[in-house]
Amino acid sequence: MSTQRLYHTDSYLTEFDACVVEVADDGRRVYLDQTAFYPTSGGQPHDLGALGGARISDVIDEGERIAHLVESPLRDESAVHGAVDWERRFDQMQQHTGQHLLSAVLEELFGYHTVSVHFGRDYSSLDLDVESVSGQRIVEAETRANAIVAENRAVMTTFEDASEATGLRKESGRTGMLRIVSIAGLDRSACGGTHVRVTGEIGAILIRKVERVRKSARLEFVCGLRAVRRARADFESLTRIAGALSASLDDAPALVAAQSELLRAAENERRRMERELAGYRAKALYDAAPADSRNLRVVRQEAASMDELRTLAQATIALPRAVLVGTIGEPPSLLLATAEDTGLDAGRLLREGVTRVGGRGGGSSRIAQGSVPDAGRLTEAVASVLSAL
Ligand SMILES: [Zn+2]
Repeated sequence: MSTQRLYHTDSYLTEFDACVVEVADDGRRVYLDQTAFYPTSGGQPHDLGALGGARISDVIDEGERIAHLVESPLRDESAVHGAVDWERRFDQMQQHTGQHLLSAVLEELFGYHTVSVHFGRDYSSLDLDVESVSGQRIVEAETRANAIVAENRAVMTTFEDASEATGLRKESGRTGMLRIVSIAGLDRSACGGTHVRVTGEIGAILIRKVERVRKSARLEFVCGLRAVRRARADFESLTRIAGALSASLDDAPALVAAQSELLRAAENERRRMERELAGYRAKALYDAAPADSRNLRVVRQEAASMDELRTLAQATIALPRAVLVGTIGEPPSLLLATAEDTGLDAGRLLREGVTRVGGRGGGSSRIAQGSVPDAGRLTEAVASVLSAL
């Protein structure tokens, strides 16, 4: 016996009585003769609520029948009372009807077809058959949709035979009886979901992010109280940003952009000064290092980071017959840099030095770096590299 879907004719029905037709899975899966619980389908999530005192955890559309999953077995397995969680349902009705309205407006204004929809916990989204939508068109569509909300147009549900149902926004591939949801003077769509009865009940419609997903533009949107909550959260974020800059809300974006630009310039200047400083440090270390029998100047340096060593290495190898052997303690690592006129291949020498003690590394013939398992082996690797110079 198929389940009669009460929500098809009355999406405002929240309380109902039904006969239990079958109970399965140790009482956790309940089938009724009729139900007001909406099952997950058409992108719309299932209802929650209570059935005979048990909490509903899922509602599944099995085609002919609807299965209600309950958290505890029913006390009475003959007749039950059902109560739909109205807050959740009404929120879904707002998002779902809002989607019909937005899709219709996007079609009417720009000829964009909606190819798929999704109703999420925080956002809903619809995918269009175009790759991008301009910011101006988003504002136009949002304005038009909200104007139709304010006109409080009727949203009606009718049942029509597929062969006679004309003027649908999207052709239905189904045959037989279609459930058609219409927004007066704007849209006719075949849909099995739950909708509000007038557009005014959708409340505010706010389009959020627009992103390209494969060949589609995906529009995220929120309706009703979700739009109000989202706008409130945005306002609070913007207030914190403006507060941190001691600016007004409207001045904040330009000020943030200006601050980012300053930060970028300061960072470039810091890097330039770091290189300049490295030049002086390299020269001082080089002058303090005695020349060996082959006139090589081997500079030993321990640093806090590999970045610091690399900057110093660049400056050191600009000096005649200079070699830099640099180390950092954590993680135990080694850097070798050789001036071109030394004829020494830093990459090869370093690789041999670190692999001998179980480490790994490499690089160019001028600058190479590697890591070793521990501090003891770092000392060994340094000794090995120095002896191979
Ligand atoms: Zn619908």
